[in-house]
Amino acid sequence: MPDSTRTRIIAVANQKGGVGKTTTAINLGAALAETGQCVLILDFDPQGNASTGFGIERHDRTYTTYDLILEQTPLAEAVVETGVQNLSIVPATMDLSSADIELGINENRAFMLKDALTAADTEAFTFILIDCPPSLNLLTINAMVAADAVLIPLQAEFFALEGLSQLMLTIRKVRQTANPTLRIEGVVLTMYDRRNNLSCQVEDDARETLGELVYQTRIPRNVRLSEAPSYAMPALQYDTMSSGSIAYRVLAKEVLARRLQAA
Ligand code: ATP
Ligand code: MG
Repeated sequence: MPDSTRTRIIAVANQKGGVGKTTTAINLGAALAETGQCVLILDFDPQGNASTGFGIERHDRTYTTYDLILEQTPLAEAVVETGVQNLSIVPATMDLSSADIELGINENRAFMLKDALTAADTEAFTFILIDCPPSLNLLTINAMVAADAVLIPLQAEFFALEGLSQLMLTIRKVRQTANPTLRIEGVVLTMYDRRNNLSCQVEDDARETLGELVYQTRIPRNVRLSEAPSYAMPALQYDTMSSGSIAYRVLAKEVLARRLQAA
């Protein structure tokens, strides 16, 4: 019997900076929440962009993902509501930047997030999205060890596929050593510009190399997506019918369909 009710944990990862990880975590999260799914975002990047994007002020970040993995703070105490119904977040601060080093001396260093989530009552959430930092460091490894699957945003720009083999290699290593059932949830093309030949070229290359893993949905380059965080809300709230918002809703449908297949 497929279990489509179990919490699905998805690490949004790509070690390349600025490819749309945080934008995807925020807006895919909001799009899933809109359909009635209960979504938790874990801000796992010391930059704290996802937290800022929801307008979580620094002084309201009492407990963070750092506390979750290094101070044994229970998940329930660290969860903060956002302005979006059905969507909450565990924020991050710069503290998390030292976690990589602090984790390094711990024998259980790759399993800290997994242990924290296993110890918690996560049943209320249908999706947990982990916004990873732009690095294949111990934080990203922790996310991959804790996750069911990795969702990879791929910026439709030159060099997009560069570095992807390293990311795939890391996923394979995590599978071999710590999380044999880790899957690739999918690859989403971001900042897509259909008038730009380069975007089309990257899409062709990605579909040829990665096949079915690439979502049909492409996230267009859309200024609303980049403006929304400064208004402390997802684009889906800031400009609900913008092309970016619509694309993330369609992506959410694909993610939901794959979840049923994976169950
Ligand atoms: P980092 O690696 O630093 O964590 P990231 O991969 O999380 O970056 P984002 O922060 O989501 O990437 O996006 C990088 C920049 O591009 C941001 O300014 C964001 O607002 C903008 N951006 C992301 N997606 C789009 C899009 N589809 N259209 C226009 N701007 C976008
Ligand atoms: Mg980010």
